[in-house]
Amino acid sequence: MTKTRKIQPWRRLAEAIQAIIIIGLPFVRIKGESALRFDVPTLQLHFFGLTLWMEEFFIVLIALIFLSLLVIFITLLLGRIWCGWLCPQTVIADFTVFVEKARGRGGLHKLSAWTAVFIISVLMAANLIWYFVSPYEFLPRLVEGELGDIIRGFWIVLTVLLFLNYVLLRQRFCATVCPYAKLQSTLFDNRTLVVAFDPRRKDECMDCMACVKTCPVGIDIRKGPNVACIHCAECIDRCAMMMAPRKKDSLTGYFFGLPGEGGRGLRQNAVLIGTVTAAFLIFFLYLLITRVPLDMTVLPNYVFQPRALSNGSIINSYVISVKNRGSEDAVLHVRVKGIEGDVKIVPDKDVHVIAGEIKKFPVYISVRNLEGGELKRELDIIMEPVEGGGSIGQKANFIIPEVE
Ligand code: SF4
Ligand code: SF4
Repeated sequence: MTKTRKIQPWRRLAEAIQAIIIIGLPFVRIKGESALRFDVPTLQLHFFGLTLWMEEFFIVLIALIFLSLLVIFITLLLGRIWCGWLCPQTVIADFTVFVEKARGRGGLHKLSAWTAVFIISVLMAANLIWYFVSPYEFLPRLVEGELGDIIRGFWIVLTVLLFLNYVLLRQRFCATVCPYAKLQSTLFDNRTLVVAFDPRRKDECMDCMACVKTCPVGIDIRKGPNVACIHCAECIDRCAMMMAPRKKDSLTGYFFGLPGEGGRGLRQNAVLIGTVTAAFLIFFLYLLITRVPLDMTVLPNYVFQPRALSNGSIINSYVISVKNRGSEDAVLHVRVKGIEGDVKIVPDKDVHVIAGEIKKFPVYISVRNLEGGELKRELDIIMEPVEGGGSIGQKANFIIPEVE
């Protein structure tokens, strides 16, 4: 007997894995922070152990360009695979299919289905907020009744929107609201993976309408490609069930291009977009790997003018500001480069900058037996981690005051 429902068990598995990842990710902590969270008050993005500050959003921008290109590349090759298999909208619609079944039944069934959808909406809305407010902060504040008006307001609005979406719109959301769905058809070419009815076998169709009845967006795939189709493959398995007694395969299926017209293989546009996508991925990884979590600025200390001492030493003072953008504390040492003579730095001790801290402090650089006769020298002031690499530095002027 022909095997039926080949695709849906795999789809359900993919949907379950996606749901576990989306729900579970805010609970995963790396170096004491959420694995993925944008902290609105500090404008910091916590990204799998890295903390990106606002001034580093160039890295985020490159990541977003890479993701946009990846979406275009995958859509060009695999069509609406995201919509049918992984999009949270589809996943929750599939897991709340009882709402559809309750439609034609009595009030109690409807009430139970709507109550279940409401509870799911409350949880999904909280899950969305956890990508901005850590659940380790959200849940204790909820228990203590100190969630705050803004978070509570967002939670209520999101819950209402999700509830109305899953009770009223459901998969119609994809064809009416979703901007990605509207964009997709412009990204397809004649070899993109699509779900289609095979017109070469149209004589075998029994007009049983099973494929139409099972379709969550209510289209008849036998009439040809339709922009509302989310490529969920429900019609493929349903037709396979209907064809099974005849020992024949489903009349609908996944095809690269329209049945009999397309074909596999790479094409110029796919190679081009794939190459640019890979280039942006490499650039993004390069930026992450070479990222220095420390930043510093050096300014002259205006309350301490450069001066010459009677023992021949020249002293200049600077105000150093060090920002630790990393997720671990840093112990740094000040060093000077580029000036010849007996150099002394005060204070000559390690500077402890905790993760996320901006530390500002004055340093005094004294040089005795200064070589050369110029009245202004350029030196490098360097902050060096006591352990490990990744030092940072900045140029500053060392002024030799005229001795009266
Ligand atoms: S036509 Fe088939 S693949 Fe497309 S949405 Fe309907 S059931 Fe899913
Ligand atoms: S389920 Fe298959 S046989 Fe039935 S109408 Fe659809 S395509 Fe034809």
